[in-house]
Amino acid sequence: MRKRKNKQIYLALILVILIALIGIQQAGFFSQTITNANTINSANTTSTPKTNMNSGTQLEKQALDQNVKIHFIDVGQGDSIWIETGQENILVDAGNTGKGYVVADYLKQHNAITATYLIGTHEDADHIGGLDEVILSGIEYTTYLSPQQDCNTKACRDLDLLIIGKKQKIKRGELLHAKIPIYGLNPIEPLEFEEKNNNAIVLLVNIQDINVLLTSDCEKECEESIVNSGLLNQVQIYKVGHHGSKTSSSVKLLERIQAKVGIISVGANNSYGHPHETVVNRLIEYGLKIYRTDLDGNIVLNTDGKNYTIENN
Ligand SMILES: [Zn+2]
Repeated sequence: MRKRKNKQIYLALILVILIALIGIQQAGFFSQTITNANTINSANTTSTPKTNMNSGTQLEKQALDQNVKIHFIDVGQGDSIWIETGQENILVDAGNTGKGYVVADYLKQHNAITATYLIGTHEDADHIGGLDEVILSGIEYTTYLSPQQDCNTKACRDLDLLIIGKKQKIKRGELLHAKIPIYGLNPIEPLEFEEKNNNAIVLLVNIQDINVLLTSDCEKECEESIVNSGLLNQVQIYKVGHHGSKTSSSVKLLERIQAKVGIISVGANNSYGHPHETVVNRLIEYGLKIYRTDLDGNIVLNTDGKNYTIENN
């Protein structure tokens, strides 16, 4: 009788602990950010089981085998960002039509001929216009990530012809199946905004103690949505939204992220007047050290997860 009672008490205790653990996970933060992210598998790893936040947390705790580099490639007016972990490559955008070959040459010069993910943050040509050229240059890739399945621009339709069977979506709270934790902060599904810039893919790259925020052309409405989601806290490196346009880098975002460095990907003497003076002054006011591809060329962040350097080449 007593034994049975003890057993019941043990079972009750285990149940309480389980409930408490689930509660902690629900309320907790991913390194102060996301909980319960689903993993996006790259296309050839579909046999890998979907995991929850725990895998991200474990990855985060692992020592880095080698430094991680993030290259902000000078593609003139546009974006192209190469995340190099040493074991895999992830390419986020490839500039406008014609710039994809510049990106492909840059990758090949660094012996990067395969990529786990190609990511087209949104349909504008200054982001995805060069991605078909990257593919045609022979860079092999496993998965193409986009905010949506359908296309509304020529650049997107051209690209779609090349990426048949490899296109996947990413949305807020999802974790890429990658060597380092990379989280989707935007868009949400169904797409929240009419303006496509605001449905762009926004990524948080977590390299141990160093967080890098890549906001594509996300504007202040999208920034507000991300800040209000509670998924974003301090980052060290901020890829300045929308090439320094005054539509982005709102006070609300800068207050939240408290970044140390702002990297602006922008073309010299561009017709948009990017980066806008107000934004540059705001970044300075918030203490960010600014780097610009039009002035500095290719900008490379190099980090061991504790410290970082920024160089240009
Ligand atoms: Zn853009």
